[in-house]
Amino acid sequence: MKILVIGAGPAGLMFSYMVKLLDHHHKVTILERGDEKAKKGWGITLPQHAFDLLLEWCPKFRPFLPKVAISSYHVNLNDRNICTVSNLKMYGISRNKFLRHLKKLCLSSGVVFHFNKEARDINSIQDKYDLIVGADGVHSTLRSENSALFGAKTGFGKNKFIWLAVNKNLKGLKLSFREYNAQLFIIWSYPYSAKMSTVIIECSEKVWKNLKLNKHSLPENCKILSRIFKNELNGHLLRYLPKTQWQSFPVVTNQHWFYKNMVLIGDALHTAHFSVGQGTHLAVVDAIQLALALQKKLVKAALQEFERTRKPQVLEIQNLSFAGMSWFEKIFEKFDSTNEMKLLEEIKKQFTQRLINFNNNQKTLFSKQVENL
Ligand SMILES: Cc1cc2nc3c(=O)[nH]c(=O)nc-3n(C[C@H](O)[C@H](O)[C@H](O)COP(=O)(O)OP(=O)(O)OC[C@H]3O[C@@H](n4cnc5c(N)ncnc54)[C@H](O)[C@@H]3O)c2cc1C
Repeated sequence: MKILVIGAGPAGLMFSYMVKLLDHHHKVTILERGDEKAKKGWGITLPQHAFDLLLEWCPKFRPFLPKVAISSYHVNLNDRNICTVSNLKMYGISRNKFLRHLKKLCLSSGVVFHFNKEARDINSIQDKYDLIVGADGVHSTLRSENSALFGAKTGFGKNKFIWLAVNKNLKGLKLSFREYNAQLFIIWSYPYSAKMSTVIIECSEKVWKNLKLNKHSLPENCKILSRIFKNELNGHLLRYLPKTQWQSFPVVTNQHWFYKNMVLIGDALHTAHFSVGQGTHLAVVDAIQLALALQKKLVKAALQEFERTRKPQVLEIQNLSFAGMSWFEKIFEKFDSTNEMKLLEEIKKQFTQRLINFNNNQKTLFSKQVENL
């Protein structure tokens, strides 16, 4: 088969590697609009189940993939611990290293790369390939050029967030609510190497504008946020990548997952809010399941099988993640700076249960996925 993959993120690379691994006769080309050497984000988390699945299909990954175990989840409010889950089975890994090793595996199996090459007007080249895989991320060109055919729905969460890092292993997954000048902020952090942690800062649009974070430069933002979160960051300064900006979380769903010989995977197909830390995991499992479906069947039947078997799993995680996203939005709406107890009770009441549900759900979802492969 002649296959075109658009996007060299986790979904595109994993799919390309897997499809070649299962049948080396396929001719696979990847178009990536970014530069080969560009730094692609900080660290990501993968639950142990996802990590095991990945290593099952990519055993060559094992010696090259440095990982940091994340075994506890702490929820804090203004330096006070509210709840802790201590049996978490999760790893933090550098997104850059993850992509670099996947790319190496792809190259060694004969996948052809074209970097700095943006795919556009994809329908005009549709007949030149047996299969076109849209792994082109949240702002997918393949999806937007065929939005009605995919039944695509896109929107945005109400809160603002920014993806940063610090040069410090902050130990464990941490979620802290912090009051600053009568404004509420949320900070998430998790380590992904012995010396680095990812940091995500979230606030309502109102707070973002009140503190003029929308007007300040990126370095100024980092200085202000480092000050607000000096306790959570152990006094370390926040770091940013050149194109970093405040964002609203993009919500993406698609009623139909393929059209003729074109199929979407990863963020192009579905997003999952970072409160459940599943985006890369979903992208990687999509890629594995699509490659496996193609092994057994002709393109149309394989795409049908992919959508039929994978959709219920994805919807379950998406529902969980969007419920999480709106829970965090409501916390900001309800926040009353004169009544810390109210916030404390709200977090305690809802969050403790959410954590328990989340842990249970993860186990059920992952065992279902493994059964389906
Ligand atoms: C703040 C934040 C924190 C996150 N934390 C986690 C986490 O802890 N754990 C986790 O599992 N996930 C996390 N994620 C999610 C994760 O980053 C994504 O879900 C994952 O990268 C999706 O992979 P993908 O391959 O589908 O898309 P991407 O990684 O977005 O890759 C798409 C690729 O396509 C390329 N591209 C786009 N358009 C074109 C075009 N027209 N032509 C050619 N190339 C194109 C892009 O340059 C890009 O390289 C987080 C996301 C955010 C925003």
